Amino acid sequence: MLKKMCPRCGKSEMENEFIKGFCPACFAEAKSIFKMPKALETRECSSCGKIFLGEWVQQDEKRTGSWIASKIKSAYLIKVIEIQLSKGKQALEGTAIVAFDVEGNLIEKKIHLRIALINGLCPSCELLKSGRYDTIIQIRGEQNKRERTAKKAIRALGGVVKIGEMREGIDVYSAGLGDALEVLSRLGLSYKLSKKLVGRKEGKNVYRTTLCVRV
Ligand SMILES: [Zn+2]
Ligand SMILES: [Zn+2]
Repeated sequence: MLKKMCPRCGKSEMENEFIKGFCPACFAEAKSIFKMPKALETRECSSCGKIFLGEWVQQDEKRTGSWIASKIKSAYLIKVIEIQLSKGKQALEGTAIVAFDVEGNLIEKKIHLRIALINGLCPSCELLKSGRYDTIIQIRGEQNKRERTAKKAIRALGGVVKIGEMREGIDVYSAGLGDALEVLSRLGLSYKLSKKLVGRKEGKNVYRTTLCVRV
């Protein structure tokens, strides 16, 4: 039986169905199946090291993968299979292996990546640097217990604007409500949340949140 032959590499049509006369690999090679911006860049917080990938996050493979996928333009379905990045000078550099679904054939491509990092501050570090705070964790309860809990919370929070110790308990002033909630749930602490309007900034109401923890 006569088999189709790929005009580019000479392979015959055995396992994979040809696409427009070419074997899938040569088809992907000959026709550029994706486009990517020449230069990728994003912001990096010079204080906590988070980078901006749609939101401020600690860099990890999964998040960077979906961010990179969003930068690739292709007529085909894509999936980022693997990413290897290391931190170079003001940039993340490495490779990504991306699979393209070209008419039922998964074609893998190795893409070289360089993501330039622009120095900046994430919103919570900015708030922290300015000495302002938007969250107060009030720790109440028996003295030994609340001191132990406060220590754990302060360590886990990383950035704390100030600490107030009063007869009724310890107040921890933090610049990031999201971080504070995450820390409390990680430490398995339940809290009562209340919000207070403290002013307006750029036409928006500014609230301060109090998280009251009983230990
Ligand atoms: Zn071929
Ligand atoms: Zn930061």
